[in-house]
Amino acid sequence: MRRSRAFIPTTKEAPSDATLPSHQFLVRGGFINQQGAGLYNFLPLGKIVLEKIRRIVKEELDKAGCQEVQLSFITPISLWEKSGRAETMGKEMLRIQDRNDADFVLSPTNEEAMVELVKNRVNSYKDLPVNLYQINTKFRDEARPRYGLLRGREFLMKDAYSFHSSKEDMVREFNLMEETYKKIFTRLGLDFRVVQADSGAIGGDDSKEFHVLADSGEDTIVVCESCDYGANIETMFETQEIIDDLNEKSYEELQSHYIGKDCPDCKAHDSLSFKKGIEVGHIFQLGDKYSSALEAKFNDEGGKPRAFEMATFGIGVSRLVASVIEQNHDENGCIWTKETAPYMVNVMVSNIKDAEQNELGDKLYTQLQDANVEVILDDRKDRFGFKMKDAELIGFPYTVIIGKELANGQVQIYDRKTTQKIAVGVDEVFTSLMDLL
Ligand code: ATP
Ligand code: MG
Repeated sequence: MRRSRAFIPTTKEAPSDATLPSHQFLVRGGFINQQGAGLYNFLPLGKIVLEKIRRIVKEELDKAGCQEVQLSFITPISLWEKSGRAETMGKEMLRIQDRNDADFVLSPTNEEAMVELVKNRVNSYKDLPVNLYQINTKFRDEARPRYGLLRGREFLMKDAYSFHSSKEDMVREFNLMEETYKKIFTRLGLDFRVVQADSGAIGGDDSKEFHVLADSGEDTIVVCESCDYGANIETMFETQEIIDDLNEKSYEELQSHYIGKDCPDCKAHDSLSFKKGIEVGHIFQLGDKYSSALEAKFNDEGGKPRAFEMATFGIGVSRLVASVIEQNHDENGCIWTKETAPYMVNVMVSNIKDAEQNELGDKLYTQLQDANVEVILDDRKDRFGFKMKDAELIGFPYTVIIGKELANGQVQIYDRKTTQKIAVGVDEVFTSLMDLL
């Protein structure tokens, strides 16, 4: 992409309600813009990042034997009446009417629709297990949409639903998905923890959450320094007041808070500490809650009809875009991880009136494109300082600065993460970049 032709509307000012780095930098960097409360447009750079995350999620799920589908976003209220959730979902579920006054909802999740899809299509234990997922829009009329993509009203979720002939098989899939999620978040370059969680409105037996560690996280989790144990404080304290009180506290304030507990798993003494986390994934063992309510049955080995054992697995795909930045930024802007960067290399021509600089910029740009490197050429007329600030704000992993030193046969490679600039000879710049990537 040539920057002179690109639609990347960067700005100096952040929206007044943007208190978190991801919200500020994603808007200022021209990744997203707000359409209304909790509603966001993805501009070209934001769309690239979103697609990269979506692709990684899809690749790992497909490898684990899941199949992608796409359900209709709008669902008839009758579905929700069958499960009883028309009553219990409350105001987060937005209801709409069509021209015939028939009632529908903007889907906040899709358990009922997925059960209806599988019902009478999977009839025998021989056809099980099945794990179907979609990466689709969700709408939740959140009481307080905020923090940009972290808590939107319309957002992109990966939601998977699995069907089994026995509880043991459902637990096997639950464990497989836990491992699959770990692969996904590791590939995305995130520092995360798996914690025991409350099942909330979805209901069911066991559930685990995946939290990206970030000071700005809305959730408070407890983790063990000696083993893998982790829990959302929602599962540890009985009263909502204590939970709310701890959630209000900043990460620093929590450090002086004594948990006074030995780790329930490894029994290590004084090994638990509080962390702040952003919930990016949630996996639930559902049992037959929805299949029974919707009378979705299969014939077991003895030919007896039985309700499916189910589990469900969510990932906040659009929330992940912001989570990467909550964990990877400095005061000047975004620092994308290799798997999420909108472009890996930014080739910057400092002075486009300089024929020699321009020529090298073009040559390097073509060379990198031919080598399948995601590259953008900053060929704008603007001053060097302005273009550099822009590169830092957007957060390309590497910027090649083609400037005055070219007269001595040298250019610089700027590393966004370390903020180091290294001088390299014109003849070595391509191979140096390939080594870095
Ligand atoms: P939260 O506790 O943050 O409100 P939740 O527990 O209600 O989330 P789930 O029903 O578990 O959410 O949905 C699966 C995933 O969808 C969550 O783990 C989260 O990553 C994402 N998600 C949920 N609500 C939102 C939202 N308002 N905006 C963006 N992503 C969301
Ligand atoms: Mg959840």
